[in-house]
Amino acid sequence: MATTTTNRDKQQIIVLGAGYGGLLAALRLAPYARVTLIDPSDHFTERVRQHELVARPAGAALALADLLRGTGVRHIPSRASALDPVGRQVTTDDGQRLGYDRLVYALGSRTAVPMDHTALPDAPGVHPDSVPRVSTGSSEHPLRVYTAESAGALRLRTQSGKGALTVVGGGLTGIELAAELAESRPAWDIRLLTAGPLAAGQSARGRDHVRGALEAQGVRIEEGRKVEDPAGVDADVVVWAASMRPNVGLAADAGLALDPESGRIAVDAALRSITHPEISAVGDAAAAHSPLGAPSAWVVRQRFPPASTRPPPSSPRSTIENRNHCTSAI
Ligand SMILES: Cc1cc2nc3c(=O)[nH]c(=O)nc-3n(C[C@H](O)[C@H](O)[C@H](O)COP(=O)(O)OP(=O)(O)OC[C@H]3O[C@@H](n4cnc5c(N)ncnc54)[C@H](O)[C@@H]3O)c2cc1C
Repeated sequence: MATTTTNRDKQQIIVLGAGYGGLLAALRLAPYARVTLIDPSDHFTERVRQHELVARPAGAALALADLLRGTGVRHIPSRASALDPVGRQVTTDDGQRLGYDRLVYALGSRTAVPMDHTALPDAPGVHPDSVPRVSTGSSEHPLRVYTAESAGALRLRTQSGKGALTVVGGGLTGIELAAELAESRPAWDIRLLTAGPLAAGQSARGRDHVRGALEAQGVRIEEGRKVEDPAGVDADVVVWAASMRPNVGLAADAGLALDPESGRIAVDAALRSITHPEISAVGDAAAAHSPLGAPSAWVVRQRFPPASTRPPPSSPRSTIENRNHCTSAI
């Protein structure tokens, strides 16, 4: 006898965060569940292109309404402020309480700056239209410390005038920011400080190439320079790219176990929280050790759909879908 699944029978899944992990999970789960996507931004920010915002204003953000049209995914433009795994509820900063059967935690990560930088306009997708200013005593001056998340404000700060600019961090984010700045801000004297070797983790040939390219653009590179705090850096503008921190505050407050080494949510091979299996974590917030080597929306979907809506494992459709899901999620 044929079975039909109505919308009411479907599980309610809340996805927290509309970055790469959250947006993919929401889109892949939508045919099989009622999906609510919570993210304060009305744009999907291409974070891997965020450094480009130091040189040009557009290009790294796509309207969520366009990406979600016709998918059935409901977007709630609010910030999740609390997670209650016992009552299976999410609270948002504008006072909504939303229930779920399953939850996907995809709140990503952000640059960790060893100082209070709450004044930074760092919400992904938010492009400030003026240089942020800070007060010290009776005087007011332009903000001095920036990150990849505040690249739009950095563009405005450096688009006129000249001065000394120091990028702290010799990893890929620091290198990309230094290269964009050197190319687009020839009037600025640009230096890159790094505690270890430049581009650690790359091959010797790769490191040489990066060094040569940056030096050809006029960037001065100083290795073996461990910086504890941007306050101690002698420069007009400091770009901090030395460390990232996973956004796991809500998970930790809710009692989800974190991986002691990485500080990310501890998950099993199917990306389920090891303490709260009804919650899956993906992307930068997850300490993922899946057989695929990276967070996979396909793994999440295998856990959630009602059996009646899932194609049989041997069908060509499921094989193609699984391949697509795997490749697009990695
Ligand atoms: C400049 C730069 C270049 C990079 N280049 C590369 C690269 O070339 N290759 C690569 O593999 N990786 C790169 N990365 C890393 C990559 O961007 C991350 O690994 C990836 O974005 C992680 O995806 P995610 O979905 O976990 O989180 P994110 O993409 O960070 O998305 C998290 C989402 O959660 C939302 N959010 C946060 N808090 C809340 C809340 N309380 N409530 C609701 N929503 C919230 C945010 O608005 C955001 O939309 C780069 C990073 C940077 C900064």
